[in-house]
Amino acid sequence: MAKHHPETDLLLEYAAGSLSEPFSLLVATHLALCPGCREKTGQYEAVGGAMLENLESTDIDDRLRDKVFAQLSAHVDIDAPAHATTMQNAALNEIDMRLPQPLRSYVKDNLEHLNWKSRGPVDEVKLLTEHAGVTSRLLKIKAGKAMPRHTHDGTELTLVLSGGFTDQGLYFGRGDVETASSQTDHAPVADDDEDCYCLAINDQRLRLSGPITRFLNPFVRL
Ligand SMILES: [Zn+2]
Repeated sequence: MAKHHPETDLLLEYAAGSLSEPFSLLVATHLALCPGCREKTGQYEAVGGAMLENLESTDIDDRLRDKVFAQLSAHVDIDAPAHATTMQNAALNEIDMRLPQPLRSYVKDNLEHLNWKSRGPVDEVKLLTEHAGVTSRLLKIKAGKAMPRHTHDGTELTLVLSGGFTDQGLYFGRGDVETASSQTDHAPVADDDEDCYCLAINDQRLRLSGPITRFLNPFVRL
């Protein structure tokens, strides 16, 4: 059972359908492994739906309301296969049980068979590369190894898929989510007996929150 969960704000944004695809994927993957957050998110969706119903008699734009309803309902059935193609891909390839259903639509093979790029103690595979400003990666932290100490330009969310790591005195196992802000200087260390596979999403754009920080980052264009 997961012990470290996404922040409530993130679950609320997920329930409202306002998260970008990479963060939405990470939350959906956590929900598949965490009944507690699944229940909370279901409640947020119900509340959001009820609020929208109450707005019905006012001047809310019909198209906007339909769009929000569509987003809300798209997130309801997280355990059901998302598309027919998911079923086909699962049938064509060996199903890797370490990959919860939402992630299986994006990672179409066994984790060991992916095209890993070596980054020292950590191997990585990029996902969702079409989302500019957001880095989405599968990570393999090799058994007993530490990720190089690092900070982030923005928020980094790391979800453990298998194995586990220790960071800043806390242990993260399957389903757990570590939230590291740009102030967090951290170096996760994988368990000694097993490689640790994770999904990591890093939003660099969060650093550029205002005109002053933009001025301080002259090499990054919006
Ligand atoms: Zn949770």
